[in-house]
Amino acid sequence: MATLGIPQNTIAILQKYQFHFQKKFGQNFLIDTSVLERIIKAAQIGSEDCVLEIGPGIGTMTQYLAENAGKVIAVEIDRALIPILEETLAPYDNVTVLQGDILKTDIRELSEKYGGGKRLKVVANLPYYITTPIIMGLFEKDVPVESITVMVQKEVADRMQAEPGTKDYGALSLAVQYYAEPKIAANVPPNCFMPRPAVGSAVIHLKRYPVPPVEVRDDRFMFTLIRAAFNQRRKMLPNALTGANIPGITKESILEALKELRIPETIRGEKLSLPQFAELSNLLCGSQN
Ligand code: SAM
Repeated sequence: MATLGIPQNTIAILQKYQFHFQKKFGQNFLIDTSVLERIIKAAQIGSEDCVLEIGPGIGTMTQYLAENAGKVIAVEIDRALIPILEETLAPYDNVTVLQGDILKTDIRELSEKYGGGKRLKVVANLPYYITTPIIMGLFEKDVPVESITVMVQKEVADRMQAEPGTKDYGALSLAVQYYAEPKIAANVPPNCFMPRPAVGSAVIHLKRYPVPPVEVRDDRFMFTLIRAAFNQRRKMLPNALTGANIPGITKESILEALKELRIPETIRGEKLSLPQFAELSNLLCGSQN
């Protein structure tokens, strides 16, 4: 099977099946072999690995994954792509293609059924309309995932990797960095896709921590504080948090906690690091009860 990373091969298969791109599924297929090689390298795939690919499209990246991994499970929502995948992946006996919506898929069950219960390496050129729910779902649900290597909008990759005090820093940076160590592996221009997306893209590798880097008594409460802090990011932290009406939290309890942590009360949420949010959460969570 000729590699689909070469544009002429992708065009030939799309014409053969008279495939029509579906905007609602975020379909932008990769047509650049060097980008495909960089994704495989960033994901550190070896013959022992079980890979979950979200949205295989016509199987362009799936072919590379099948060449490198022990097992590949690919979940594709678009029924029109299933017959194409049967043809493009026919040479590989280590690939299972399933039709379905990844947001409604029991991933633990997939790993048990097809991957011997192994922790999965997730690799995908993600549909951009559901990037955040997919990634946060993989972290928050109790899913056996070792790492996530994905193509996302460049702006989203920058936000995931951002540090306190920068313009890109926000609730997404903290949510991702609580679960994983992010590293942007490549920036990818629109001409590497068919059709071309309107925005630049980037490949980001998220290496999941065995345990989070900070100790938090109630992580859901910490994320409530984080969302409140960034919902009104121009406000000083005590005002932003009070404005969110979190049950049991008063301006006095916030000021007292900031004093104990030696954080100035004029600070804005965008300057607070993950360890500082964790400490603040632990203090306020206590004052809540
Ligand atoms: N992996 C292919 C490539 O790199 O050329 C295609 C990537 S394309 C950006 C995203 C793919 O995800 C499409 O094939 C699309 O149909 C599929 N997709 C969209 N929403 C999905 C969902 N909820 N569950 C599974 N697949 C989905």
